[in-house]
Amino acid sequence: MIEGLEVAASRERTRLYSDLDVDVCIIGAGLAGLTVALQCARLGASIAVLEGRHIGWNASGHQLGTVMPGFGLPIGDLIERVGIQATRELWALSKEGVEFVRANATEELMPGVALSEGVLEVSNVDAGDQLISRLQMLGEDFETEVEGWEVDRVRDRLKTDRYFHGVYYPKAFQVDGRKYLFGLAQLARRAGARIFEETPVVNIDSSGIRKRIVTPSARLRATHIVLAGNVHLGAPLRRLSETLLPVWRYAAVTMPLGDRLAEAVTFKGSVIDSDGIDHFRIVDGNRLMWASPETTWAMRPQRFASAIQRRIGTLFPKLGTVEISDVWGGAIGQTVHGMPQIGELRKGLWVASGFGRQGLNTTAMAGQLIARGILWGEERWKAFSPFELVWAGGPAGRLAGYVVGAWGRGSSALAGALARHREHTRIDEQLREERLAKANRQAAARPPGSPPPA
Ligand SMILES: Cc1cc2nc3c(=O)[nH]c(=O)nc-3n(C[C@H](O)[C@H](O)[C@H](O)COP(=O)(O)OP(=O)(O)OC[C@H]3O[C@@H](n4cnc5c(N)ncnc54)[C@H](O)[C@@H]3O)c2cc1C
Repeated sequence: MIEGLEVAASRERTRLYSDLDVDVCIIGAGLAGLTVALQCARLGASIAVLEGRHIGWNASGHQLGTVMPGFGLPIGDLIERVGIQATRELWALSKEGVEFVRANATEELMPGVALSEGVLEVSNVDAGDQLISRLQMLGEDFETEVEGWEVDRVRDRLKTDRYFHGVYYPKAFQVDGRKYLFGLAQLARRAGARIFEETPVVNIDSSGIRKRIVTPSARLRATHIVLAGNVHLGAPLRRLSETLLPVWRYAAVTMPLGDRLAEAVTFKGSVIDSDGIDHFRIVDGNRLMWASPETTWAMRPQRFASAIQRRIGTLFPKLGTVEISDVWGGAIGQTVHGMPQIGELRKGLWVASGFGRQGLNTTAMAGQLIARGILWGEERWKAFSPFELVWAGGPAGRLAGYVVGAWGRGSSALAGALARHREHTRIDEQLREERLAKANRQAAARPPGSPPPA
């Protein structure tokens, strides 16, 4: 089905050969650029999207389709950085992003997008107390529907002793990621946006009221430019791409696993772990789609087939050795502060990038903020002003990122092993489960926004 879409998309591929005048020129046709295009076009602007390769060439065409609220930066860190009130505002925006995806990812608008409900975040360590306060915070302070899952419930659906408690998001969901991306392109075209592929932008002049955009075969003039090129932006504003640390994430899908899959995984939605190491779900009824290793240098995805195979074996030994049918990877742009870059850099020059691992809801949110900023003069995008552009350190930064990432993963693995060991001698488990159940009951009974009990 994916191939069919791609064939159709490549048949429609158009390069830009003649000069053009538009209201908004968007550089990059990934999730970010296409969402800005769709929303600006729906508000009535004339749009040209310029894509150096083709739609879905990079991360946006290789994501797993999990849509949930929030950002790459953990909510506790966000509160520490900008305070509770600003975090609530940012969180609410991220939920609007989720709702935008839901509203557009319908079978009517995007045939085959196959939206299904429910995402489970599992803990690699036995942190039941932290989970309870997280649950209360999400439910009460951030008005997000969540359910705490006890260890037994998690392990009933994911038959591994690697995971402990879980936070279940009933309103989060998953879609066919590529169908969603190509669906966005189609909706943007239908709304009047023109998308040109194989049309790299090699230079911009953003100083005047009417800005100039240079491609190898044509020039454009536009009142607004939106930079949505992620880590690949390059020449048009190299300083901006240097504020992103490129991280390549790899994913694979297994061959059909038959009846043995039920011995390991029966949860139907996406599963992500609390350290961001693994992210997986069942696809096509009995295969696993699995994202795991990361590097700070581009490598051939095929090199990671055995790493993903091993990872699946470690988590679910009952599956035995699984055969991998396909492997792929994409570069995500990680900012130093972990939050996306959204806003107006100078009059008429906008940025939408740095979406990291959580790009579906955040690009949708960025599209809305930027479209309304451009066309209605709305300033909600300023909620992202505290997250300035910070140089990511070039190649040295990549190396540091790799070392820090590897250390983080190593220490999580160690913490996980210790947790499993401690599990055998745990004496307060029952007490904790009771508190968790109580917190769930209280969260369910309390109207949203009402103060937590003293
Ligand atoms: C394996 C994997 C799994 C993931 N799973 C999920 C998931 O389940 N849920 C989720 O929310 N997120 C997920 N993500 C993250 C998500 O894919 C990214 O956050 C998102 O795709 C970023 O979109 P983007 O438009 O900013 O970047 P990109 O997809 O990189 O698009 C940028 C585009 O701009 C073009 N471009 C750059 N420079 C120029 C130029 N000068 N001229 C013209 N064109 C240019 C590039 O060719 C590219 O096509 C995943 C990522 C990976 C790699």
